[in-house]
Amino acid sequence: MKWYKRDQHFLIDENVLNRIVVYGRLDKSDIVLEIGAGYGNLTGELAKKAGKVIAIEADPELAVSLHRWENVEVITGDVLKIEFPFFNKVISNLPYSISSPVTFKLLKCKFDLGILMYQYEYAKRMVALHNTDDYGRLSIAVQYYADVKILETVPRTAFSSQPDVRSAIIEMKPQPAQYEVKDKDFFMRFINAVFSQRRKKLRNAISNNAGLLGIKDIDILLEKLPAGLLEKRAENLSPQELANIADILLR
Ligand code: SAM
Repeated sequence: MKWYKRDQHFLIDENVLNRIVVYGRLDKSDIVLEIGAGYGNLTGELAKKAGKVIAIEADPELAVSLHRWENVEVITGDVLKIEFPFFNKVISNLPYSISSPVTFKLLKCKFDLGILMYQYEYAKRMVALHNTDDYGRLSIAVQYYADVKILETVPRTAFSSQPDVRSAIIEMKPQPAQYEVKDKDFFMRFINAVFSQRRKKLRNAISNNAGLLGIKDIDILLEKLPAGLLEKRAENLSPQELANIADILLR
């Protein structure tokens, strides 16, 4: 089986298709990117409302069927290897097996609005706040770049063939980070490190990962950190609190 076939769960529920288009608040000035357009059930609805749709589809047999609207540009290929043309909205029922790479590829682009279908469990992690089980590296990394919320959950029966999991539609609005951090790359490495030991107190999670983070003199640095925070676990700290700690470790 070709790699792209395993993601072929086509959305057949017309009410859900219509709501996705409504969530997109489309008009003729919009250039919409659609990732994994399939045989075009959503594409056609987007094309009615938007000025232009750029439909990316890896499966050449499906991509052929997308050449039926004047304002749809079809790109046949792997979304992870394609350089995105300009778009201002992205509306897609995504291939779930590449949720992370495709999300972070999108978040490097400038756009106004995303309406995106994900696996429900993944969507919950994207929007999670601290002090919840779903909060982690994904929540912090996504929310650093965008305001995200779940618009609705979608049952398996809305698709053909039916996926094993429930789905959710996410609204994604890129925005400037809501807090400052000195070195974004170090912050993201720090987040990865401390959430790899999410049940440990922060003091131990940092100590255990000091080498990985390139931190020397870890005992001296730990002294400089607020003792109260070090007794907590990473999952109980807000992104802002974690960013403050990352900044102190960088000194
Ligand atoms: N948009 C259609 C719909 O809503 O019914 C199809 C969505 S289906 C969940 C995902 C689509 O993405 C499939 O048609 C699959 O062939 C395609 N696909 C999978 N991996 C891809 C990739 N890396 N690049 C581009 N398309 C991909």
